[in-house]
Amino acid sequence: MNTRVAVIGAGPSGLAQLRAFQSARAKGEEIPEVVCFEKQSNWGGLWNYTWRTGLDEYGEPVHCSMYRYLWSNGPKEGLEFADYSFEEHFGKQIASYPPRAVLFDYIEGRVKKAGVRDWVRFSTTVRMVDYDAKTGKFTITAHDLANDRMYSEDFDNVIVASGHFSVPNVPEYPGFDRFNGRVLHAHDFRDAREFAGKDLLILGTSYSAEDIGSQCWKYGAKSIIVAHRTAPMGFNWPDNWKEVPRLDRVDENTAYFADGSSAKVDAIILCTGYKHHFPFLPDDLRLKTANRLAASDLYKGVAWVHNPKLFYLGMQDQWFTFNMFDAQAWWVRDAIMGRIAIPSDKAALLKDVTDRIAAEDAGEDAHDAIHYQGDYVKELIAETDYPSFDVDGACEAFFEWKDHKKQNIMTFRDNAYRSVITGTMAPVHHTPWKDALEDTMESYLRN
Ligand SMILES: Cc1cc2nc3c(=O)[nH]c(=O)nc-3n(C[C@H](O)[C@H](O)[C@H](O)COP(=O)(O)OP(=O)(O)OC[C@H]3O[C@@H](n4cnc5c(N)ncnc54)[C@H](O)[C@@H]3O)c2cc1C
Repeated sequence: MNTRVAVIGAGPSGLAQLRAFQSARAKGEEIPEVVCFEKQSNWGGLWNYTWRTGLDEYGEPVHCSMYRYLWSNGPKEGLEFADYSFEEHFGKQIASYPPRAVLFDYIEGRVKKAGVRDWVRFSTTVRMVDYDAKTGKFTITAHDLANDRMYSEDFDNVIVASGHFSVPNVPEYPGFDRFNGRVLHAHDFRDAREFAGKDLLILGTSYSAEDIGSQCWKYGAKSIIVAHRTAPMGFNWPDNWKEVPRLDRVDENTAYFADGSSAKVDAIILCTGYKHHFPFLPDDLRLKTANRLAASDLYKGVAWVHNPKLFYLGMQDQWFTFNMFDAQAWWVRDAIMGRIAIPSDKAALLKDVTDRIAAEDAGEDAHDAIHYQGDYVKELIAETDYPSFDVDGACEAFFEWKDHKKQNIMTFRDNAYRSVITGTMAPVHHTPWKDALEDTMESYLRN
């Protein structure tokens, strides 16, 4: 096959794409030449932890938004690869909420086995992608950071897998410029121990607020206040944790809230979300979407309706992660290899998008949203040879997880679930999450 495919990013989505092509090759099929551009020096995307914040050694924005002591915030049974189980990787079943290093090892294990590392150009940032309607090709301009060299190459297809939880959304409140403590976004949070003994204010109500607050609580923060703009998270928080209405302003050391209350705080962590940000894409190729399950302008959630030779992976808000990226990657591979036909009628592509948006909007709660995304995963899998698995069973793990969080937000990670890939029950972890201060891979895997 005389075509060239560029993949931008070697995080879980981009790696799913490499594995998808490699699995076709392993079955004796002729595949396109695949080149993956990755700006970091290693793969794994957000799971590739660095202590750095701000800019990296080359002056590029640091991609990592993860932090020390991060454990999976959902059960691993909801994200397990259908073609590479946890048991295959670790040689045994492991507990359900692995720390970051354990999940990194798992993600890496599959692509090491596939032997695709030399498809990746590391420390190489994509600076621009252009499409030439006359030749029907994309030109990628890339920067080889280690050798400080820019170059351009042509491709038949481009797959954007650059993630969307890296570029922070940073609001400003009156008084931030004279607050005496630290104001930081979740993207720059690295170590909860920094906040031991401190009174903390967290803004936001999503996973980052919940988890960064929990980490700080676990590692000894004195008190935690979470301010919400719309509704509180409403979990049964520990005694030194409370939720208050939105922040109004701060002065040197005090935060003032919309209900007229105030509190002295030492630091403010903005868990205020991330932006879909593609500085390397021109207007006609650039996705602009809210963080939702049915993303704008993507046919089947992946093909750019305005030029379906361009694909995006993992741009949806995520209940399902690794296995959804797989479903997408296998589908994109088959679209590129001509096994799946994308309608040539643009109206049909746009209708697919509006139908998906309407179906998501018709859902009423998180339960519906989980089913909605599970059905999407099933839909894509049914069209490719990705191993089918019990997606409804994975949805059940998510429902149990949500119940466990409601019961006790500081103990939900002590629960265990059944793998929908191998059918085996996970063991209960040897130490309750709140007491497991050391979270290396060795300590997690110890029986
Ligand atoms: C703090 C945090 C905790 C999370 N916890 C969980 C969890 O517990 N469980 C879970 O399932 N999911 C979790 N997620 C969700 C996460 O989005 C996915 O797990 C997964 O990392 C998404 O994979 P991705 O490949 O789409 O994007 P990313 O992991 O973001 O990878 C994108 C890759 O693209 C590269 N890249 C970006 N721009 C360029 C460029 N211009 N040129 C070249 N390369 C580029 C980046 O360096 C990066 O390697 C978490 C996310 C965050 C932020």
